[in-house]
Order: sequence, then structure tokens, then C-alpha cells
Amino acid sequence: MSKTWYPVINLEKCNACMTCVNFCRHGVYKVKDGRPVVVYPEGCVHGCKGCSKRCPADAIEYVGDSTGSCCSGSGCGCDC
Ligand code: SF4
Ligand code: SF4
Repeated sequence: MSKTWYPVINLEKCNACMTCVNFCRHGVYKVKDGRPVVVYPEGCVHGCKGCSKRCPADAIEYVGDSTGSCCSGSGCGCDC
């Protein structure tokens, strides 16, 4: 089964603050050449928007998102 929910960073908006990298507890992001990179999309919790909610540049969107709501009891462990 292919992954149906994971973040995508808009690099034109991203200011490389690393809030997303530091926030996610699931190993989805790593830093490469001073920029956040999605290295483990399989680790993203379906329905979680924890990192997106904290992104100051509104640079994170999700493949599979059609709801517009936050986490929605996804059990991701974030506090949004
Ligand atoms: S949406 Fe949640 S699980 Fe997915 S990368 Fe962001 S903080 Fe991690
Ligand atoms: S939180 Fe947003 S602006 Fe900061 S590094 Fe992540 S995607 Fe870029």
C-alpha cells in the first residue's frame, strides 16, 4: 500500500527555521545543506498537521489532505 499522507515543503516559502525538523517526533525530516528535507514520509502520522501548524512561513502542505482540519484525533502525539 502506498503512503497517502505526508508533508511537502514549498521551498519558495521556507525560511529554513527548522521548526518542523525539531518538532516532528517521527523522523520524517532531516536537515540537508541547511534545508529541511522529507526523508521518511512513511513515518508521518495520517491526519497530523503538527509541523504545518507551527511553520511560520506556511510552507508545509500534505499529500492526501482534503479536510483542512488539524490532527483530528490522529494519535500523532502532538499537542495542537
Ligand atoms: S505532520 Fe506530524 S508526523 Fe507528519 S511530519 Fe509533521 S509533525 Fe511529523
Ligand atoms: S517550519 Fe516551515 S519555514 Fe521552518 S524550516 Fe520547516 S518548512 Fe521551512
